[in-house]
Amino acid sequence: MTQPIEVDLIIKNADELLTLSPSFQEGSGLGIVPKGAVAVKEGRIFWVGKGEELSQKICLNRGGPEMDATGKVVMPGLIDAHTHLIFGGSRENEFEQRIQGLSYQEIAGRGGGILSTVEATRRSSFDELLFLGKKRLDRMLSKGVTTVEAKSGYGLSLQDEMKILKVMKALQESHPIEIVPTFLGAHTLPREFRNDRSRYLDLLTEEMIPQVAQERLAEFCDVFCEEKAFTLEESRKILETGKRYGLRPKIHADQLSSGGGAELAAEVDAYSADHLEYVSQEGIRKMAEKGVTAVLLPGASFFLSMKNYPPAREMMERGMAVALATDLNPGSSMTESLPLMMTMGCTMFKMIPQEVIRATTNHAARSMGREKEIGSLEVGKQADILVLDVPNYRYLPYHFGVDHVEYVIKKGKIVYQRP
Ligand SMILES: [Zn+2]
Repeated sequence: MTQPIEVDLIIKNADELLTLSPSFQEGSGLGIVPKGAVAVKEGRIFWVGKGEELSQKICLNRGGPEMDATGKVVMPGLIDAHTHLIFGGSRENEFEQRIQGLSYQEIAGRGGGILSTVEATRRSSFDELLFLGKKRLDRMLSKGVTTVEAKSGYGLSLQDEMKILKVMKALQESHPIEIVPTFLGAHTLPREFRNDRSRYLDLLTEEMIPQVAQERLAEFCDVFCEEKAFTLEESRKILETGKRYGLRPKIHADQLSSGGGAELAAEVDAYSADHLEYVSQEGIRKMAEKGVTAVLLPGASFFLSMKNYPPAREMMERGMAVALATDLNPGSSMTESLPLMMTMGCTMFKMIPQEVIRATTNHAARSMGREKEIGSLEVGKQADILVLDVPNYRYLPYHFGVDHVEYVIKKGKIVYQRP
């Protein structure tokens, strides 16, 4: 008789085990296994299925935890596909001014706006940014986030962009949340280059991108393609340069106007186009054709009281994978709560609960090229798992503004337990 195989962790009796795997087909598309169980070995999913079929050939390591998920939902860790994680300062004054009806220009005139965050970030030391970043990641973890995409973009000088990316690297080495770093030197034009766009473009393409790539501080290169930020031509040049240095393209597209950003995303084979409030029909068609993931950011629409929402339903009907993210940043979306974005995805973008769950798991993984590793509970994938104190998956977006996460498991280890 063969020896049973020892595993490191077993979760049993989940009322709903959301695998997000096509091997468990049922109506919702979430691959739900009732009374499901999952076994973890060496940080990866070793077995997943119906509890009663959990083989006699699998036994738990001595001391390994066996968790009873009776009355609970078990699902893959959430993935936040778009954040501006590292910044100094805050803009609550601007928030108040906006409520009182001041325009973006008036706020900028009073020293607010994105450039005020650039100044505050430049003034912040490495250690100050590290401290702030850790606090933000801790909040995300308590909401069930196990992987986060994080953009630079509040430094806008070689030295300050490198400082931000190095803070991310230090966090990656010390915090359980996995960070996927993106270089966003093309976030806005820094003040000192106000009258010399082309010199900043040169700095981006000839110094910053090569240096970031050489030190392996980013996987992606992003650009804010918008009338008031970078033009279509400039964006193309930046993304193409990034590609030559091995940085994969992403793009902030069509947030404030329909400027051809989505079409450019398709043209440069971007992994994702993000925002898309004003995406054109042609843009949707081209992105669907190329398999670009749409990353939608309801927090920004909500926080800025924007009336024009991205056409999420239409994008899904046209075959696009739609992801949702927080867009965490001090100006337009000051939140670490991805579950809250799920609720907003439902109420504002008319996505249904099963869709917002895919949007924050396997579709979010796709937007960062990680779908073979994370975003579903399948044998061989990374064991990033949540145990939620809710009776069924619909509860997660339905019962909003409160925390449902009981346990977070990252790479097979319990990294958060609800106090
Ligand atoms: Zn953004």
